[in-house]
Amino acid sequence: MDNQSTANGPLPPAGDERLPFHELPPAGIMDERHPCLILRGRDLLLVRDGVDNTPRPPTAADLDALGLRSAVTRWYGLCARGLTCYAGEVAAPDTPPAPALWLGLRDTFHLPPPALFWAAGQARHLLDWLAETRFCGRCGGENRPAEGEMARQCPACGHLAYPRLSPAVIVAVVRDGRLLLARARHFRLGLHSVLAGYVEPGESLEETVHREIREEAGITVRDVSYFGSQYWPFSGALMVGFTAAHASGELVLGDAELVEAGWYGPDDLPPVPKPPSLSRQLIDWFTVQYSLGK
Ligand SMILES: [Zn+2]
Repeated sequence: MDNQSTANGPLPPAGDERLPFHELPPAGIMDERHPCLILRGRDLLLVRDGVDNTPRPPTAADLDALGLRSAVTRWYGLCARGLTCYAGEVAAPDTPPAPALWLGLRDTFHLPPPALFWAAGQARHLLDWLAETRFCGRCGGENRPAEGEMARQCPACGHLAYPRLSPAVIVAVVRDGRLLLARARHFRLGLHSVLAGYVEPGESLEETVHREIREEAGITVRDVSYFGSQYWPFSGALMVGFTAAHASGELVLGDAELVEAGWYGPDDLPPVPKPPSLSRQLIDWFTVQYSLGK
């Protein structure tokens, strides 16, 4: 292990919250206790060992044993939902050396530790951001880590590049005890979900709700109420959930991406998204509310 100080300094020790994020070069100092979230596209590297054979993220020592540490091209240290870890990008073979395996990020939800799914998604988001902000978007200078914040800065012009978050609304619209669900062209196997759309410059979240529902479904809504929010790392979206009631109009699909839409009761729902997505939380809210005869 490299004991020398690096341009970025060492990563914080476990439990140190002063520096929850940090870029470091491949030879940077690493605390061997923390898990390494090694990504190849949308796959996460895991190792299967221990008593119950449950896959877990490798440590730096595991990567050495697998011969993969030197193959990692980009590192980032972060604390995601309480999990201090390293994110790394690797160009590794389709079949990693045993006992390692690749697992799709979305399939990590039920694996320990509890923050793994979110941390791995955040790792993907931040590694993409590092790749996209290598050079300054304003003058073309080579960016460097900014001091003390999650940002990259251009030494030539001072421009700061932060990880991009895209706010989007997602809305459960109810009419006479039935929920509006639609199927998008890219959804798998008949999956239906509540309507969602990105916020445009100049809009409040509520204005986005009204515009999206009008554009996508041809109806107007009332009683728009905040439900909750969720960072969705795979798209860099900050999803903001709302509930609303149908006010006027009949369904007319206005988005080429939507292939069908309808009103569904709690007992006749089509296939819907899995937990922990906010769309599923909204659908579960509807099911509880309207199964009780409210
Ligand atoms: Zn610049």
